[in-house]
Amino acid sequence: MKAVISMIFLYCPACKSGNLEYDGVKEYHCRTCDYTYFHNPAPAVAGIISHNKKILLIRRARDPGKGKVDLPGGFVDPGESSEDAVKREILEELGVEVCSFRYFASFPNIYEYKGIVYPTCDLVFELTITDLPEKWNKDEVQEILLVDPESIEKLEFAFGSIKTAVLSYLDR
Ligand SMILES: [Zn+2]
Repeated sequence: MKAVISMIFLYCPACKSGNLEYDGVKEYHCRTCDYTYFHNPAPAVAGIISHNKKILLIRRARDPGKGKVDLPGGFVDPGESSEDAVKREILEELGVEVCSFRYFASFPNIYEYKGIVYPTCDLVFELTITDLPEKWNKDEVQEILLVDPESIEKLEFAFGSIKTAVLSYLDR
């Protein structure tokens, strides 16, 4: 299934003309200088941590989706592997080390920030951590929740892809 993303760039990043042609999916072709920009999905990572048969979720302290629940995670940095990204994000957000991880599956997502839409491909890992988080990053995480599997469906997630990921994980 292809996501339809409305046009987000108005000017050519190479020659600054406003003579762009958009294919409605990802290609921006400049009729003036013939440059083509591909707005490809950005890889992002998320970690599923289960504890006593409950799933660890965070309540986001930031937009997009401020106040809604999410898995811990974030974007992969340039030059970084997805494995290193998930370890870094867990340490940055939750203040704990990842002990072991296993790739689960990936889920396409749309990430909107201040009116600009980024397609992402969310790589989801099953993780174990050293200890339950006690001193998490308050700039990113309002609170940590341990949620019964039966309660996941009724929670409001920041991203549909992440809710689908958790439900697929529970259903596996
Ligand atoms: Zn151009």
